[in-house]
Amino acid sequence: MLSDSICCALYPGSFNPVHNGHLDIARRALRMFDEVVIAVYVHPGKPFLFSAEERVALIEKALKGEPRLRVATYSILTVDYARQVGAHAIIRGLRVFSDFELEFRMALTNRRLAPDIEIVNFISGEEYLHISSSTIREVASLGGDVSTMAPPHVVEALQQRFAKLKAEGSQSSFTVSIKD
Ligand code: ADP
Repeated sequence: MLSDSICCALYPGSFNPVHNGHLDIARRALRMFDEVVIAVYVHPGKPFLFSAEERVALIEKALKGEPRLRVATYSILTVDYARQVGAHAIIRGLRVFSDFELEFRMALTNRRLAPDIEIVNFISGEEYLHISSSTIREVASLGGDVSTMAPPHVVEALQQRFAKLKAEGSQSSFTVSIKD
């Protein structure tokens, strides 16, 4: 160790819901940083399939037993929240080329806003390249099997949520919810 100071990273996102691709990035980040804060961004007024509290609970259960990892919600600028938790870096995942343009623009914007915070992009593991929360929601909403893409408790939460929405006949929120 060169210094006693803790190196902390923020991993922000919607996590609606968390899946194996997210978990892989979080675990790999823990090899690089002393602490990782997974931060669920709360969009004011935007309907989500799972509430922020539910998304936090699903992540916490998936990563239970990892003391260097913390899960939180935030609704301010990501760089401001990174400063608030003492993070030196912001972690983002990269899957396909189409992710790149947005992530590149976001990284440059964040660097302009906070030159002291590094943006670290992790390339997705090959087995997780096809996974996204929106894909999982869409497949699960049609009764498809997503058990290879997310932990069992997330699969169960999806099944229960879609069964409830169908029973309520809440077609509109159902449709809005599966689109981020
Ligand atoms: P956002 O709305 O901020 O993109 P997401 O929950 O969709 O939130 O994603 C959070 C982060 O996780 C992003 O950096 C995204 O690129 C990354 N990510 C999502 N899916 C995968 C995956 N399959 N493999 C690696 N990283 C991923």
